[in-house]
Amino acid sequence: KETVRLLGSSQVITSVFSVVKELIENSLDAGATSLELRLENYGLDKIELRDNGAGIPASDISFVAKKYHTSKITSFSDLKDLETYGFRGEALGSLCNVSSLSITTRTKEEEVSSTYNFNHQGQITSSRPSHLGIGTTITAVNLFKNLPVRRQFYNTNKKKKDELKRIEDLLLSYGIVSPSVRISLRHNKDIVWQKNQVPDVKTAILETLGKDVSSSLQRKELSLEIPKVAMELYLPSPGCDWTSVTRSTSDRGFVFVNHRPVQQKEVEKMIRSHLGLEKGRHPVFIASIVIPPSDLDVNVEPNKTRVFLHRQEAILELLESFLIEAYDQNKL
Ligand code: ADP
Ligand code: MG
Repeated sequence: KETVRLLGSSQVITSVFSVVKELIENSLDAGATSLELRLENYGLDKIELRDNGAGIPASDISFVAKKYHTSKITSFSDLKDLETYGFRGEALGSLCNVSSLSITTRTKEEEVSSTYNFNHQGQITSSRPSHLGIGTTITAVNLFKNLPVRRQFYNTNKKKKDELKRIEDLLLSYGIVSPSVRISLRHNKDIVWQKNQVPDVKTAILETLGKDVSSSLQRKELSLEIPKVAMELYLPSPGCDWTSVTRSTSDRGFVFVNHRPVQQKEVEKMIRSHLGLEKGRHPVFIASIVIPPSDLDVNVEPNKTRVFLHRQEAILELLESFLIEAYDQNKL
């Protein structure tokens, strides 16, 4: 059945959130320093991301929405040295299947931008010159219109609002880990969230999480030679004002591995336990871990938010010995 094919073909595109994530990663891969996201009706009617990245060369455009087309890896061995967010070539192809996609793009070699419309099979149906600057704008209209089951998920206002919040949090994480990128989120006519270009992570934290949080966090760099690990931490200083750096929800611990926002419950659990927080309180913290690409496996699930670290033990040990020194001794 058609729906079965559609469901199977879009494992990476399961929600508005996942569309946004894939589009943002593509823009960052293209070297963009400005991301403007616009949603209409919580993204169900329209999702549009405009970036100022490298653009898509005219010679590539007819392939981008083809299944498994990627410009980012050329051989299997490249996978273990992966420096880009994307590599499967699945996102745009799947997005075509479940929405009406158009792309406006211009590289620095081109005088004007071109706008292309795609059909559900990922083929270009029309193209025309347009007037945007260098970069790419991807527009997906009527998401899941041909997949009522998926669209049904958003049948209450609460679900739509929760999804918008998740998207805002996602932008927030990319905003922290990419200080030099300007990001804005508009929903219908409103600006929901935005962040300027800033020089470093510290300033990005100040700008996105506010002065109280930022002044309560202390920065620490940890590293290991073998296996190679570099960790940048922003943790609540011992003796800080806990009310400003704890939340009753768990959405304020940011873990990045090689600049990817990831879910790493082990890291959060370890940090929490050493801070001696009461149950139900979650600290605001940022842990950015950089390891050789070959030590990271992002193939655990299609949307790449859970990852596998080949040397997780060593990383957790490094973190724990610091936490013991910084927090446990202070309590004596
Ligand atoms: P992947 O990111 O895994 O390569 P995608 O389906 O997400 O696959 O994108 C397909 C291709 O389209 C990319 O490899 C890239 O060449 C091109 N592309 C997508 N989005 C952009 C963008 N915002 N700027 C420049 N090129 C893009
Ligand atoms: Mg991609």
